Amino acid sequence: MKRKKLLIIEDERAIADILRYGFEKEGFEVRCAYTGSRALEAVGQDKPDAVLLDWMLPDLSGTDVCRMLAERYRIPIVMLTARGTVEDKLYGLEAGADDYITKPFDMREVVARVRAVLRRFDRSRGITEEAEFQCGDLLVKEQEHSVLRNGEALNLTPREYELLLFFLKHPRQAFTREVLLDRIWGYDFAGDTRTVDIHVQRIRKKTGLEKQLVTIFGVGYKYVP
Ligand code: CA
Repeated sequence: MKRKKLLIIEDERAIADILRYGFEKEGFEVRCAYTGSRALEAVGQDKPDAVLLDWMLPDLSGTDVCRMLAERYRIPIVMLTARGTVEDKLYGLEAGADDYITKPFDMREVVARVRAVLRRFDRSRGITEEAEFQCGDLLVKEQEHSVLRNGEALNLTPREYELLLFFLKHPRQAFTREVLLDRIWGYDFAGDTRTVDIHVQRIRKKTGLEKQLVTIFGVGYKYVP
């Protein structure tokens, strides 16, 4: 199996060294970046398989780095931080992080979490390469941009199609309405989160994925195949 490349973004050298040692021992190829701007360069150059990102950096905030990475690259990000409140955790996850670890950390846990996001990511990429999604009597062919139910083509609007595809590509992951708005409609979209609700309702009706597109009360939605 190919060695996984990990980029550690942490300004405290002592912590970065501990992490580097721990991951190298587990067979990872490790690079370290000590500032946010250097980290953005390093991701572009080294194309790491995953990023371990500290929240507190000297130049950019961890969330800024996280948001920029999530926008530019498809790469799993694990946030590392001393903060541990629920709000901070949600904030990090909304910025595009895939998981979250609080300091002080247990090295074995950090490695396990990074491995878990890598596995999830590889799996989702495998599905993406096939570019065909089947759920019950529904078949979505990404290349053809078609949605078939019992072999019959469905008429989805472009946004409905994009939102459906997004859910299919991220099974079992919960998304807030705000995140869905950002990902599907973009940051400059002027509408509100009700837009997401309306689209989800329409997709449920058209595709028959009534049970699979789950409402998470007070949070948002997830797709459970
Ligand atoms: Ca730090």
